[in-house]
Amino acid sequence: MIFGSLFLHVLSKKSKFAPQYGNLEVKTLFALRLMKIKEVVEALEKFAPLPLQESYDNAGLQIGITGSECSGALLCLDVTEAVINEAIQKGLNLIIAHHPLLFRGLKRIADETYVERCVRLAIRHDISIYAAHTNLDNTVDGVSHEMARKLNMTDLSFLAPLSDGSGGSGVIGRLAKPYTPHELLQHLKSVFGVDCIQYSPSVQTTIERVAICGGSGDFLIERAVECGADLFLTGEIGYHHFFGRENDIWLAALGHYQSERYTIDLMQRILTREFPQLPVLMTSVNTNPIRYI
Ligand SMILES: [Zn+2]
Repeated sequence: MIFGSLFLHVLSKKSKFAPQYGNLEVKTLFALRLMKIKEVVEALEKFAPLPLQESYDNAGLQIGITGSECSGALLCLDVTEAVINEAIQKGLNLIIAHHPLLFRGLKRIADETYVERCVRLAIRHDISIYAAHTNLDNTVDGVSHEMARKLNMTDLSFLAPLSDGSGGSGVIGRLAKPYTPHELLQHLKSVFGVDCIQYSPSVQTTIERVAICGGSGDFLIERAVECGADLFLTGEIGYHHFFGRENDIWLAALGHYQSERYTIDLMQRILTREFPQLPVLMTSVNTNPIRYI
């Protein structure tokens, strides 16, 4: 905070002698103040409160001291050694991921698994790591809503709302126009930048009402049918869930990573709105471990 304090001191002195610039200087002063990691985390949690996370999850702070100043944030879906090295190179001391690096717990921190190596690398370089996972899925305007927004859908509501109205799972809404199924599948490929989609057909010849869940959403297929969706779109669907839906609903799976790619846009929007001066960059690393040929 040395620089921050110095600016504060200089500007407060200056404003005594040039009061006509008082307002401008207060703004400048605000812009120059370095954020603490804690404040960045609080802004994320204001949007996606941690209590909204699923019981099996481990969203929240993974590594770091939140009282430290934040030099900038690097956004990603998954934390890998390549992402941590990118943060180090770019001088950003906070990584914000969608998927928690620490999920099942560690019994030792050696260098056998990529998780252990990431922990060691991050601590060695004083990089903090935070994950906004199912709390970001389940919050209002979260991950699935962001997917629906990319498809210009309207009349959005939670597919499975929580009883207290604080959030829910998935989203259901209406496309901007009715599509034939194959037109829509082509459209989905272009919007989400994928080369192929897994799908199973159904009897509907026109699709307008669509249910969506980012990531692994097959637990919501039944609910999408109950809500009258023509198609259910998610990241991945277990093989056996594709069976027996030919009279109910079209099913489409984009790939887990591909379905959540716009989550980074969402996180960037939240942070740049709250902290316009904070460097917030999207990772240039493709962390999807799955390849297609
Ligand atoms: Zn996911």
